[in-house]
Amino acid sequence: MPTDAPSAPITQDVLTLPRKLPASARTNIIGLTRDQLRAALIEAGCPEKQAKMRLGQIWQWVYFFGLRDFDQMTNLSKDFRALLAEKFEISLPEVVTRQVSEDGTRKYLVRIQGGHEVEVVYIPETDRGTLCISSQVGCTLTCSFCHTGTQKLVRNLTAGEIVGQVMLARDDLNEWPQKGAHNDATARLVSNIVLMGMGEPLYNFENVRDAMNIVMDGEGIALGRRRITLSTSGVVPEIARTAQEIGCLLAVSFHATTDEIRDQLVPINKRWNIATLLDALRAYPGLTNSERITFEYVMLDGVNDSKEDAYRLVELLRGIPAKVNLIPFNEWPGAPYKRSSGNRIHAFADIIHDAGYASPIRKPRGEDIMAACGQLKSATERARKSKRQIEAEAGL
Ligand code: SAH
Ligand code: SF4
Repeated sequence: MPTDAPSAPITQDVLTLPRKLPASARTNIIGLTRDQLRAALIEAGCPEKQAKMRLGQIWQWVYFFGLRDFDQMTNLSKDFRALLAEKFEISLPEVVTRQVSEDGTRKYLVRIQGGHEVEVVYIPETDRGTLCISSQVGCTLTCSFCHTGTQKLVRNLTAGEIVGQVMLARDDLNEWPQKGAHNDATARLVSNIVLMGMGEPLYNFENVRDAMNIVMDGEGIALGRRRITLSTSGVVPEIARTAQEIGCLLAVSFHATTDEIRDQLVPINKRWNIATLLDALRAYPGLTNSERITFEYVMLDGVNDSKEDAYRLVELLRGIPAKVNLIPFNEWPGAPYKRSSGNRIHAFADIIHDAGYASPIRKPRGEDIMAACGQLKSATERARKSKRQIEAEAGL
């Protein structure tokens, strides 16, 4: 877009849109797939014969070393660097605030194009460091226990904005290798990624896929496919593609053992019910014991936490290599549920465990900074739902 284009006349429509930052005329490299970047280089004037080599060099600078400045790409000629600087940029979403919890969890509030905000959470543990990233601003779905679900979808994130979340966490943790270093996957700070932040990743499939393929690329960040877990509320038609086109691990927000209750908690169940979802999971390509599906199950007091529920869950899981992650409900202001008692959660976990399934109880992290599961919600105030609306949708 030429920068000297006359500005559009201001209309009522424009005034009601969120404040937009001016889009840059340069192409952002972050988020382009290898094929897209190669094509963009050629279009910018890179001779076709050199494009593959240049692509490899740029890719390594950007995704292996984390460089942001073309001028430091010392194996490229001065002229080529100037051309890159004229046509391209390397830009990440902007970190607005960073909060560090007492337990070391870090929560970043990140601003993307258009002034929207999403949250990214880093959870350090003894044997790993997990980064929880977002795929949408808000969510079109309205799970009644989820804080994000109270914020209507504002938009899908681009592939660049998804990869950018990983890169900005690596910036903050100072994790880019120094020049001369080799790719050492053993001592990583961000060793795992979970798509469990804001949004339903399978409703933004292509961008999530492209972003994860960039993150997995062996010449760059090089995170193994089994270190990435995508969590879905159950978008059945996209489940098989997740294995085929991304190859990552799958988690499913299961949360109930009857359609009646699941309809209330995870309304997408009205579209694809428990039986349909389980069929899709049984057919998940490459499903083995070492690549089990994680069933996420939020523990809501008196709603889905009885012993009968636990026994029913075991029956439903039969034949599926699975693990059940029990998530004590994280409360948020105005939430229509309470967390199950510790005793009830343990009794539930024991039944699942005795039936032969791992059933860890997730330890809430970063609660003091509202960084725990389902507490994420950007400050984008637009189109916020009322408590009454949430309850009506949950059938309460
Ligand atoms: N939209 C996707 C991924 C994001 S939610 C999905 O629903 O799977 C990540 C996990 O946190 C999901 O299992 C979700 O159901 C759970 N969750 C949402 N709100 C929660 C809350 N308040 N307490 C505990 N877990 C919650
Ligand atoms: Fe959306 Fe997941 Fe929250 Fe449901 S649990 S509203 S799918 S983010």
